Amino acid sequence: MSTAQDRDRNHLLPAFRNALEPWLAAVEQGGYRYQIYETFRTAERQAYLYASGRTRPGPVLTYTLDSAHEYGVAADGMVLVWNGQAWVADWSAAAYNRVYAAVPPARYGLELLGWERPHVQLRGVNGADLQQPASRWATAHGLRANVIVGSTWPPVTPPPAPTPAAIPAVPLTPAMPATGRVLVPTRSGWRDARGERLVLPVTGETVTLNAQAANGDVYLGGVVWPD
Ligand SMILES: [Zn+2]
Repeated sequence: MSTAQDRDRNHLLPAFRNALEPWLAAVEQGGYRYQIYETFRTAERQAYLYASGRTRPGPVLTYTLDSAHEYGVAADGMVLVWNGQAWVADWSAAAYNRVYAAVPPARYGLELLGWERPHVQLRGVNGADLQQPASRWATAHGLRANVIVGSTWPPVTPPPAPTPAAIPAVPLTPAMPATGRVLVPTRSGWRDARGERLVLPVTGETVTLNAQAANGDVYLGGVVWPD
């Protein structure tokens, strides 16, 4: 993976994005311009940033090798101000504090790190004392570094799963000619299942059926049938 900066909000975890976007909208409504310039980070990029001011020249950019950015639950933003000719970034603490005071991130399920003004993250990622490693939170939520889960905005609501009663039954054709067998795999070998009905439970899972024809017989794979 790369050390390049990623500012794609689609690379944020849905839980964080669902909190961040309403906050950004409220900030804009409040008359401020706040622009996200970094979202997801690879472990390689976090190490690259950590090296600045330590093993390579430059300012200290981060205090951790274990960042909420690596799990898509943090974003860095800059405050833009009009200087009379153009919108420019105002990196002063005062500029950030104006925005954060006008629209408190805490009201949106977000939290700030006092020592890093551009940084907004999902509340609780570093524990109540802000001292816990993000990886601990990530492990508890089944997330791994270097894996983008991703999100959309506004959130897409999946259509409700059909209930079994909503699926119309397809009648069998009794007059189908018996010219070959339909062989299905069972634990004790292939079995002729011709004329039987395959009922898939409505679980939302996708079952792939692999069929192969040979000598007039059809071999159906993908599921293990009862003997
Ligand atoms: Zn950050």
